[in-house]
Amino acid sequence: MRLLIMGPPGAGKGTVAEIIVREYQIPHISTGDMFRAAMKEGTPLGKQAKEYIDKGLLVPDEVTNGIVRERLQQSDCQKGFLLDGYPRTVQQAISLDAMLQDLGMKLDAVFNMACGEELLIKRITGRRVCKDCGAIYNVIFNPTKVEGVCDRCGGEVIQRKDDNLETVHNRLAVYEQQTKPLLDYYQGKGNLYNLNGEHDAVVVFEEIKSILGGLK
Ligand code: ADP
Ligand code: AMP
Repeated sequence: MRLLIMGPPGAGKGTVAEIIVREYQIPHISTGDMFRAAMKEGTPLGKQAKEYIDKGLLVPDEVTNGIVRERLQQSDCQKGFLLDGYPRTVQQAISLDAMLQDLGMKLDAVFNMACGEELLIKRITGRRVCKDCGAIYNVIFNPTKVEGVCDRCGGEVIQRKDDNLETVHNRLAVYEQQTKPLLDYYQGKGNLYNLNGEHDAVVVFEEIKSILGGLK
């Protein structure tokens, strides 16, 4: 299963992705997670990415395409994968097509999660993540049982530095200008499926499952 999940920041991509990769046993390739891991380790890539991420801007295409190219060549991606948060520009989509062609692969489905702006802002500003295992929470919609402590692993639950109101507005504007046009790109290829990201993540997953079931 080779899947791609798209949508504005806060639409619930990471939350549904957690369910998809668990149920289908495929690797979760989130460029945002990859950049955050590099930032945590303080690698040159992390330092470069931080300059953009903290401002709510996109990391340059050459850098992002490079990390995805490397990741897709790893052996665990042979059995399939879920791309989340990549591609985010038309140039990245063109580059991804070239990578997949080189590997003799093709995307089975592209999912687009839609969500209204007011709810996106509430979700992003209320998002909390586990520093250790990456579990995603929300102070309003999905709080931890004990404040600041991950239900799953007991790790510290924090707010991402880019989840503040000012950066959120930049990220939403960047999505409108640079990422939304990609929907036409995938619509043209005929494998785009629109989902309502405002629904419960389990409901969204059930819809994904039924779409994927119909593909076979
Ligand atoms: P994205 O990966 O698209 O940026 P996330 O999956 O990280 O979005 O979700 C953003 C925030 O919204 C998180 O705090 C998450 O807990 C919350 N959230 C995600 N999906 C839902 C949902 N279906 N209902 C309520 N809250 C949600
Ligand atoms: P995310 O975790 O998907 O919300 O991404 C967090 C931040 O990482 C984004 O605001 C961008 O700065 C950067 N980023 C993630 N994916 C990409 C991408 N495909 N292209 C460029 N920048 C990205």
